[in-house]
Amino acid sequence: MTSILRILLAAVSAAAGLLALYLIRSPGGIANSKAWELGAVVVLTAATLLSTVWDTLRAPKPRPEAVPALAEPAAPDASAAASDPVQTEVTKLLSLLRQHAEANENFSTVLERAKEELHESLKIEQVRIIISYLMIENDNMKARTSNLQASLETSQKQIEKLKTNLANAEAQGLSDPLTGLKNRRGFDVVLASHVAAARNGGQPLSLIIADIDHFKSINDRYGHPAGDDVLRWFARILSSNVKGRDTVARYGGEEFAIVLPATPVDNAFKIASQIKAQFEAQFWQKPGAPNTMLRVTASFGVAQLEGSEGTSALVARADAKLYEAKQGGRNRVAA
Ligand code: GH3
Ligand code: MG
Ligand code: MG
Repeated sequence: MTSILRILLAAVSAAAGLLALYLIRSPGGIANSKAWELGAVVVLTAATLLSTVWDTLRAPKPRPEAVPALAEPAAPDASAAASDPVQTEVTKLLSLLRQHAEANENFSTVLERAKEELHESLKIEQVRIIISYLMIENDNMKARTSNLQASLETSQKQIEKLKTNLANAEAQGLSDPLTGLKNRRGFDVVLASHVAAARNGGQPLSLIIADIDHFKSINDRYGHPAGDDVLRWFARILSSNVKGRDTVARYGGEEFAIVLPATPVDNAFKIASQIKAQFEAQFWQKPGAPNTMLRVTASFGVAQLEGSEGTSALVARADAKLYEAKQGGRNRVAA
């Protein structure tokens, strides 16, 4: 029954009570024996009227603010976007998660309020209002959750792509496009880590530096592309003579380096001698000109890491040995 109808009924009852009172008091009216019954009707009717008016005034109003608005996605940090795309993606992700956490908190508040109100009042209209708010809020929550999931998936894909790009760029920056070996930067990184590991582990570490003999004359005679082909050929021979833990790098021009962890200088000397022998035993064939064959040689300097020396001291000693090999007549190994 609506509150207005209840007020009307109470008003009609009150009017009837007043009429009864009038009849009791008027001369020649209702008999005195009925006076008390009619008095009781008046009192009851007035009480009903007062109670209804009181309830209507006290009834809690619906609280529209209990249904929080769907939060707008926060704008990503512009300064971060300019500096680092990975950071921008992470910032977006954090912002999404923060919004979701806030939405969850609002949802919990709505549930908490509903619980309190259900305790206070058991009137069917109020229960209906509370349930309809809960249904609206539940729909909002579902929409927010699916939006969040879609945004998280997009962000994750974006981050994966950026990571792959970064890894590719890093790999490209450390390798030599002509031979596919590590370049000078790659060599520096590898040597530094092996020197540190050798010091910590107390293991020997050796370095070979190889330089093709009279390479300039190959370029001069057969052309620069032919010289490139000789460089690739020499790189393949070097790589085929080392194991998985060793690193071959193009140190610069027609100079190459081999980092040999857990290898004493005697073994490194043997490896360099083996490469020297293989190189001089083969003939280089000019691509597209099978009759143009050439014997090419190289010189090698070998050194083992000593005491507490760093990378540059080790490289300088291997270089000094290479110089010795060149001075000694080329196509030889010095250690
Ligand atoms: P040595 O026996 O004393 O080592 O003499 P060399 O001729 O080998 O050494 P030199 O330093 O006089 O010449 C090296 C040449 O290597 C000069 C340079 O043009 C050439 N060079 C450097 N990088 C490349 C490259 O990527 N491709 C080609 N084709 N030539 C290169
Ligand atoms: Mg040379
Ligand atoms: Mg050289």
